[in-house]
Amino acid sequence: MRSSPYASTPKALSELNQSRIVQYLHRRGTSSRAQMARELNLTPAAVSKLVARLISLGLISETGSLDSEGGRRSIGLTLNADRYQVIGVKFARSLISIGLFDISGRLLDSEELPPVDPDDIPGAVAEVRTRVGRRLETNPAIVAVGMAVPGPYLREIGRIALVTNMPGWRGVDFIHEFGQAFRVPTFIEQDARAGALAQSLFDPRISASSIAYFLVGEGVGLGVIDRGALVDGSQGAATEIGHVSIDLNGLPCECGNRGCLECYCSTVAIHRRMCQPDMQIQFPGVKAMTHAKACACLFDQARSGHKAARTLVDQIADYVGYGCVTIVNAYNPAQIIIGDMVAAAGTRLLERVQTMVSQRALPGLREHTQILLSRLPADATLTGAAAVAASQFLEHPASMGRTAVKSISTRRAHHPSSGKEHHDQ
Ligand SMILES: [Zn+2]
Repeated sequence: MRSSPYASTPKALSELNQSRIVQYLHRRGTSSRAQMARELNLTPAAVSKLVARLISLGLISETGSLDSEGGRRSIGLTLNADRYQVIGVKFARSLISIGLFDISGRLLDSEELPPVDPDDIPGAVAEVRTRVGRRLETNPAIVAVGMAVPGPYLREIGRIALVTNMPGWRGVDFIHEFGQAFRVPTFIEQDARAGALAQSLFDPRISASSIAYFLVGEGVGLGVIDRGALVDGSQGAATEIGHVSIDLNGLPCECGNRGCLECYCSTVAIHRRMCQPDMQIQFPGVKAMTHAKACACLFDQARSGHKAARTLVDQIADYVGYGCVTIVNAYNPAQIIIGDMVAAAGTRLLERVQTMVSQRALPGLREHTQILLSRLPADATLTGAAAVAASQFLEHPASMGRTAVKSISTRRAHHPSSGKEHHDQ
């Protein structure tokens, strides 16, 4: 998320400019003070002052000299991405995972909780609190916790409006359960929206300020970042493309609508199609597989030339493409990134989607929309959860960094031998 360009007080302006420097280094890697001043439109004196402040917080450091124009050498600056860390928590229907990331999105370690018992959701919530609390206790570098939950998530009141196949999650008030639970701030987002933040922050191919992340997995969701800010809607639950109908008289959906896109291209829908009598013959043993396993098997078979598998992948691609046409026409993003399990269908799916968009989306818009498959190395939704926290940190580096510095020094004061010293790379 980019910061608002407006700041009303000198303190707010200073925080805003510190945030711009941190975000600039996050995107760019290394830069000199002079380059930074030029590109961020700040005076050299202002940059020197802001950089000194950020160095004192340990957020950035000098990296030796750089070649610059005119043969002069200048000192390089870089973000200490591993100095500050965030926790990401991914809530799927029956699986919860917790990951520790640095603020550049690199996964440091992760753990999976035992499968959630649908009759004991409070037990799962308590377990998350315990495990995250334990990590915070032993790791003073953590500055925030981000959580990604299946949508539609009513962000303003902290509740999930609908979770297909796992209704128990609807009873959880996430803000009440986690809002004040930890020593660091906690931020919660719907999974596809979190995924959009992850793409924007952590994938260097994603450079546009208006992008859409199209999550096609067990559910179908969408996160749209328009000119640097997530499209929210009045309750923080906008852009639920999975429940946009593509057939007035189509399959009934748990949301009450008919013909929802999710009923045709989610992994659940694909698995259901593979289990129908005419298809079951083509995919022996498919009934006993999980949704994820069935889809992985389908995509493998399609790659090795299996005719029925190829036909089914093409049908799925048409639905995904149909979704992309709607995304182009509704939001006009510069880049659409398709992610989660169905993106594993690969090039065959991508090319068919691109063809459909080039034929059906509005002329004038379609020529300017790039469509890509997600390439984030770790689990995209878990990374998204981390991105929710990291984006807040990048927006408020000074205040959140200060809190961490305080907690690091407190810890060192109490346990002088246990504080791990940081060595700049
Ligand atoms: Zn629906």
